[in-house]
Amino acid sequence: MGEAYKLDCANCGYHTNVFVGIGFMYVYLHSIASFVQDPALKKRIAEFEKEPSTRYEAYDALYRCMACRSLRNELYLEMKSDRDYFVTAYSCGKCGEAMHPVPDDPRTVELDCPECASGKLTATFYMDWD
Ligand SMILES: [Zn+2]
Ligand SMILES: [Zn+2]
Repeated sequence: MGEAYKLDCANCGYHTNVFVGIGFMYVYLHSIASFVQDPALKKRIAEFEKEPSTRYEAYDALYRCMACRSLRNELYLEMKSDRDYFVTAYSCGKCGEAMHPVPDDPRTVELDCPECASGKLTATFYMDWD
């Protein structure tokens, strides 16, 4: 099961909701492939599905850009087999830098507000999802 958090900036009023963790769709690579939009990623999943040695990890993660503080809520997917390796990578929509996943509980990290210079985001748990 995953968790949903609200992120709030007390300084400028910016707020957003993020979903992190493992939903029931993530139990099989095949069901992940069914909701993935990106054709290149779908193809990679299909390649790993054919490989018996494949193991994978999948969850929703909050990604942040260290350069401009932008945030994105995206699928983290890491697949390994005896001869192949894949991990999802996202680049920032604003500045193009590589984004980094935040550890699963956003309450344990200090996030800078993407909208104002001095704000820090406060994360509040608000529900479980699946
Ligand atoms: Zn702010
Ligand atoms: Zn950026």
